[in-house]
Order: sequence, then C-alpha cells, then structure tokens
Amino acid sequence: MNHVGIGYDVHPFAEGRKLFLGGVEVPHGKGLDGHSDADVLMHAICDAVLGAIGESDIGHFFPNTDARWKNVRSHLFLEEAARQVKFREGRIVNVDATIVAQQPKVAPHVRRMRENVAAALGVNIARVGIKATTNEKLGFVGREEGIAAMAVASVDLPDMPDAPI
Ligand SMILES: [Zn+2]
Repeated sequence: MNHVGIGYDVHPFAEGRKLFLGGVEVPHGKGLDGHSDADVLMHAICDAVLGAIGESDIGHFFPNTDARWKNVRSHLFLEEAARQVKFREGRIVNVDATIVAQQPKVAPHVRRMRENVAAALGVNIARVGIKATTNEKLGFVGREEGIAAMAVASVDLPDMPDAPI
C-alpha cells in the first residue's frame, strides 16, 4: 500500500555557523542556527518519511534537549527514518523536496544534495528530487532571515487491516 508523508522545516540564520543543506557545506557568510547542524532540507525530508509511516516528527526521535544530538550531522536522522521504514518492511518509493532560500544560490549544489540524501536513505538517486526557489523577496525568507524547506515522501508499506475505531 502506498503511503505519503509531508515535512516542513525552518531555521534562522546565525553568524558563526556553517551552512549545511542536504549534507553539502554551502559557502555563505552565515549558517543556520539549530541544535544539530540545522540542515533544514534533511529535516524536512526526514519528517516526510516519518510522516508516511505514521510516526512522530524528527524531534520525537532526536529531542533537541538531548546533548547527544548537539551539532550532530543530520544524515544520521535520515538513516534513522530509513531504519524505521525497514523495520515496518516498507520501501521508500521516492522523496521530493523544495528549498526556499533567497540567498545563497542553491542550484549548483543540488546534485550533491541528492547524492547525500539518497545515500542516507539507502535509495537510488533517481528516487530523490530536490528543487530550489527564492521567496521573491517576501517574508522572512525574502529578508534573508532564514531558510525553509518542504518535502513529500512516498513509502510502500505492507497492507494491513485498519485499526478498530
Ligand atoms: Zn530542523
């Protein structure tokens, strides 16, 4: 049975941080603030995959109050999401994501982001779509205060009877 999930994440810019998007260190004057490496793209994809299997979001698995996840690289989160899918005997069909960033230019890095996400999820790169758009200078993204990302995931899960209502 095909299940879908949606993920959305935002992180504000902060001085003195590196910018990680899809596991790629993107050259920029500032990075995103967060407990982990603040990889907003990987977080959105992670929540989409977890959503497709009916799980809670990334914060449930990796609470930002837990010092173990301080500055951790986010491919770890995707690996855990993929593990949860496998645990249910499921298979990730595809993920598709959009980065919403006014700056920096993301397009030159998309291929490597797809490679990193595919590797973390254990799927072929053809199953990972990543696009980027600006916010037409509108809102917090347009003012370059942060970066947002949204994602959907499709997961094939064994058919099972609906739980009693
Ligand atoms: Zn996040």
